[in-house]
Amino acid sequence: MREQFPVFDLHCDTAVELSLQGKQLAANDLHVDLDRAGRLLTHHQFYAFCCVYDKGGLPLPRPLARSRFYAAVSEFYSQLSANAERVRLCRNVEDLIDAAKGSRQGVFLSLEGPEVIDCDPGRLEELKELGFLMTTLTWNHPNELAGPHGTDLGLTAQGKAFVRRAQELGILIDVSHLSERAFWDLIDVTGAPIVASHSNSRAVCDHSRNLTDRQFKVICNLGGLVGLNLYAPFLKQEGRADFSDFKRHMDHFLELGGQHHLALGGDLDGCDALPTGFRGVESWNDLGRWLLQQGVEELTVNNVFNNNAVRFALQHLQRKRVGG
Ligand SMILES: [Zn+2]
Repeated sequence: MREQFPVFDLHCDTAVELSLQGKQLAANDLHVDLDRAGRLLTHHQFYAFCCVYDKGGLPLPRPLARSRFYAAVSEFYSQLSANAERVRLCRNVEDLIDAAKGSRQGVFLSLEGPEVIDCDPGRLEELKELGFLMTTLTWNHPNELAGPHGTDLGLTAQGKAFVRRAQELGILIDVSHLSERAFWDLIDVTGAPIVASHSNSRAVCDHSRNLTDRQFKVICNLGGLVGLNLYAPFLKQEGRADFSDFKRHMDHFLELGGQHHLALGGDLDGCDALPTGFRGVESWNDLGRWLLQQGVEELTVNNVFNNNAVRFALQHLQRKRVGG
């Protein structure tokens, strides 16, 4: 039986935790560090920056959110430079290819909660300069762009302008956390494939953070990507979740035609309740082995764990601009 699996995870909250807790990316006691990710066959990771809420989940005042965001980004850059022999910050397709050639872990930046740039379409260019390749429209609070899950608020005119500008710049729109109404408003205006970086199936676990079958299918039809989330309350309504709950979501999405659109979005370091047996990033190997033992085909595991996200990134991330 295989011991190691390739992993491309679309969402973790490690970067901000490193900054808030003063910990190191190389090795720490959080869910994700480079040492443990090194036990996987390969590892690529979107590191999300969510700085819009306090410990109780209430909105942080914007100036504080903004200063936390810029501090976390600059500290994360330092961590990446200190570990340059084994990580590569990916700003475009060429960087990902370079990371793969050099057997380095690909690091991608995404924003969760655009309040830190004042929800301003005019500041997306700055975000791109910082290396961000994907953004949500909301976290769990309503803002100038859209309503979050659990509300009936749609996408505003500013939200539409934000989506348009992001897509012009090649920044992907992440629909995780979005209200269902805003999701369908977005579908009307999107000019590019969309991503739900860390969202499960609402048919399997009825939670407003999860996707309905219709939402999942339209993401697939648009050539998008959905990352499966490990947070226990999104896997199972009551009690402790385990690997079989993860598999129920995976199987359901595969039945809906997700073979080439399903990926991982573990929400590591963004959640305190993981499935039994899942300790941190190294545990993707355990989950992969367990899925093979359950009779899931190796190609399917590879597709979900890595191949779909790699292919999507190669197709939809920007290419390096020639001469600049
Ligand atoms: Zn989230």
